[in-house]
Amino acid sequence: MTLEKLDNSPQNASNGPMVRTEQLVKRFGSNLVLNGVDFTVDRGQTVVIIGPSGSGKTTLLRCINHLEKIDSGRIFIDGQMVGYREQNGKIVEDSEKNIARMRAQVGFVFQRFNLFAHMTALENIIEAPIHVLRQPKDEVIERARVLLDKVGLANKEDAYPHRLSGGQQQRVAIARALAMNPKLMLFDEATSALDPELVGEVLKVMRQLAEEGMTMVVVTHEMGFARDVADHVIFMDKAQIVEQGSPQQIFNEAQNERTRSFLSRVL
Ligand code: ADP
Repeated sequence: MTLEKLDNSPQNASNGPMVRTEQLVKRFGSNLVLNGVDFTVDRGQTVVIIGPSGSGKTTLLRCINHLEKIDSGRIFIDGQMVGYREQNGKIVEDSEKNIARMRAQVGFVFQRFNLFAHMTALENIIEAPIHVLRQPKDEVIERARVLLDKVGLANKEDAYPHRLSGGQQQRVAIARALAMNPKLMLFDEATSALDPELVGEVLKVMRQLAEEGMTMVVVTHEMGFARDVADHVIFMDKAQIVEQGSPQQIFNEAQNERTRSFLSRVL
């Protein structure tokens, strides 16, 4: 694999799916957490992953951008293998530089907002575009203001995280991810740590992004969001994808007993 092939420019983007995993296996010690997971996310799709706690949802998301190393299988983002590359016919671990370059193209929104506490909302958003992408500061600031407006926080650019509610912090975190102009957004239970009355404002931003055509993989317990916003729903249980399909197929016509049993507990 040459460096040019990792180029993020549109002419080098492949036309295949945005994400593809093949027979992913991940263990923590003797605990088999992903047991041969295959899935695909097409461009512009919102895929929502649901399932009981401990089924491997978060680990799957973290494997996609190599925050966790897999034990076997392969992952491709935009046609490029993640974390590994071919060298003389062998698969070897990719360089830190290439892995960082891949990560810069993937937005990750965590359950905990992970904002830099000593930086204002605006400073949080401009940090990576300036220091990682080396974009001109005035352009980055202009774009950050547009993004703050988009997430409904135009008047909060000078606020430090501790002066913002959890919902506001999470919206800054989303704006910060978007400032890198990602080709893919991963959301790991982005609303689970929020007080119930703050969940809606974050889901609204996520819904808007999905409607604008962002490619998204969303791990969530918000079944209403999954039903309304997902193009495709994946149900995981015990380290495997048990069933997947349209929201209608999963929520109204589930074939698998485990899916039906899970849904009867959460709906
Ligand atoms: P889910 O997101 O579906 O709740 P997770 O992917 O968080 O599931 O966890 C799947 C399994 O992997 C659980 O048994 C969990 O305890 C285990 N696990 C997750 N992260 C780690 C880790 N860093 N070290 C050891 N075990 C882990």
